[in-house]
Amino acid sequence: MTTDSLSNLMDERRTFAPDSGFAAAANVDAGWYTAADADREGFWAAQARRLSWESEWSSVLDWSDAPVAKWFVGGRLNVAYNCVDRHVEAGLGDRVAIHWEGESGDGRTITYADLLREVSKTANALVSLGLRAGDRVAIQLPMIPEAIYAMLACARLGLVHSVVFGGFSPTALRSRVDDAQARLLITSDGQFRRGNAAPMKANTDEAIAGCASIEHVLVVRRTGSTVEWTEGRDVWWHDLVDGQSDTHTPEAFDAEHPLFILYTSGTTGNPKGILHTSGGYLTQVAYTHHAVFDLKPETDVYWCTADIGWVTGHSYIVYGPLANGATQVVYEGTPDSPHQGRHFEIIQKYGVSIYYTAPTLIRTFMKWGDEIPAGYDLSSLRLLGSVGEPINPEAWMWYREHLGGQRCPIVDTWWQTETGAIMISPLPGVTSTKPGSAQRPLPGVGARVVDDAGVEVGPGGGGYLVLDKPWPSMLRGIWGDEERFRSTYWSRFDGFYFAGDGAKYDADGDIWLLGRVDDVMNVSGHRISTTEVESALVSHPSVAEAAVVGATDATTGQGIVAFVILRGGQDAEVASQLRDHVAKEIGPIAKPRQVLVVPELPKTRSGKIMRRLLRDIAENRAVGDTTTLADSSVMALISSGLNPAE
Ligand code: ATP
Ligand code: MG
Repeated sequence: MTTDSLSNLMDERRTFAPDSGFAAAANVDAGWYTAADADREGFWAAQARRLSWESEWSSVLDWSDAPVAKWFVGGRLNVAYNCVDRHVEAGLGDRVAIHWEGESGDGRTITYADLLREVSKTANALVSLGLRAGDRVAIQLPMIPEAIYAMLACARLGLVHSVVFGGFSPTALRSRVDDAQARLLITSDGQFRRGNAAPMKANTDEAIAGCASIEHVLVVRRTGSTVEWTEGRDVWWHDLVDGQSDTHTPEAFDAEHPLFILYTSGTTGNPKGILHTSGGYLTQVAYTHHAVFDLKPETDVYWCTADIGWVTGHSYIVYGPLANGATQVVYEGTPDSPHQGRHFEIIQKYGVSIYYTAPTLIRTFMKWGDEIPAGYDLSSLRLLGSVGEPINPEAWMWYREHLGGQRCPIVDTWWQTETGAIMISPLPGVTSTKPGSAQRPLPGVGARVVDDAGVEVGPGGGGYLVLDKPWPSMLRGIWGDEERFRSTYWSRFDGFYFAGDGAKYDADGDIWLLGRVDDVMNVSGHRISTTEVESALVSHPSVAEAAVVGATDATTGQGIVAFVILRGGQDAEVASQLRDHVAKEIGPIAKPRQVLVVPELPKTRSGKIMRRLLRDIAENRAVGDTTTLADSSVMALISSGLNPAE
């Protein structure tokens, strides 16, 4: 993606200035940018003081061993104490921390005082199993409160957690357990999915069969299904945890003590075990959660719809919101169970004021129909967020109108497992937002768009997104693979972190994310972004979702192949209309060679489209590694509906 990148939809002209009332009460103002630019380390030190430290750092940043950073050198803190105990000590024990909503409508209200008791009991239980600071603990659980207790208990004891999606296969779990050499696995008997009890322990048993590192399996009873039991290894949560003392004294750890390992989604290749540490990570998640979501902990009800098996769940369900004393909703189930209005019903029920979700779900809501959100009272909402993929301008506008009632600011937040926290986003109350653009690096963060030679491009120019300054929540490595850490992120450009995403500046200098560098197509020498063609397709009234790939083409180098899901069913004529629509929106060069109507798209568990699998189909190859697919039957469904001669 060089400067000849096509400019088209990204010439977005719509902007939405902040509402003056919102701006007047906002947590941040434009002065934060200038303050951070004037004294970056001083700015981050001020953010670190949001936390409670047992002893302060001697220096803010040590970058002498780059690319491995040390932040808040010599400082000591306990992450769980910061997320739980200190709020209770401040007299906020009765504040609701979690409104937990089970899929079947069962619920639990957990105050900060409750959370402290549960986390303490869990920590005492883990100690009784002989675990010591630095040991690794694998967690595969559904979205139930015990998942949060388990993560915080690990943090409290200095144990390193590795959370694995509840839907992952035994093979995916096994490779993660082996990679981290986990001593304990925490799981459940089963999980509810669309009203059915699906097995969980049967999968984890298969995953760890013959696995030498695992000493115990701690099992939460969720569905009540029968499970196989290995005496001496398996322990019921209710047998071990319930009887423990509900007090536990936390110990402080070094700011650089490892907090967790988390594997990336695997959208572009084999997942990488990303390592995060304590002080810098907690500082940046707390700061960004305060600034980007404008959290008012006394009055807001916050809801992030991610799964805790994804980094968004770590940073914006567990660590950021709890460090800030937020009241939040945690929902166990799927958005269409038992009906397609479930999310709106939950917003109405709890008076959710801040809602953070992914573009894939917004496009799904669009497909389900405008009348569904219209049937609920969504007036409690005051801010909306998006994460995970570029949000198409049409989806952004739909989100603003149908959930946001034209009044809520939308924050499109760009970040990665590796960055640990939000890096690029509008600031609500400060930034005039633009549909489809993540806009500007946050105060304290350095990002730019550079060309092949690492030189920053000018307004209107396209290239690669890089991060040009270290940040507190940056990854400290890939677990057990320092070489891959250096080669993946630090070898492409000298001194810059290479994010792997294509981006461009518009005429105002705002940043637009254009999708993975690997996904950029080259058609007759023109570099065309998959995101741009997808946004053109989604702007057509009959398209609900689209994924575009470049397939080898004898004449043009690559030909554009589009996979589309239609709103409301199949239509034989639509392919040629859509090809013309893209030609009109972007230019004849971007006209897809083929438009294939499909019932579903292959997505990761975090909702991202796996274009590499579609490329395999478009180029008539056997499909590659599908272990991180949300639904493994999707590829067969797509292939069977296609006529390869088309
Ligand atoms: P892998 O690195 O294994 O291929 P992944 O990159 O999908 O997996 P994550 O760390 O979960 O794993 O996702 C980060 C990526 O998601 C970013 O690099 C970017 O491509 C995309 N992304 C996240 N938020 C946004 C956003 N607001 N706009 C555009 N893209 C986004
Ligand atoms: Mg990635």
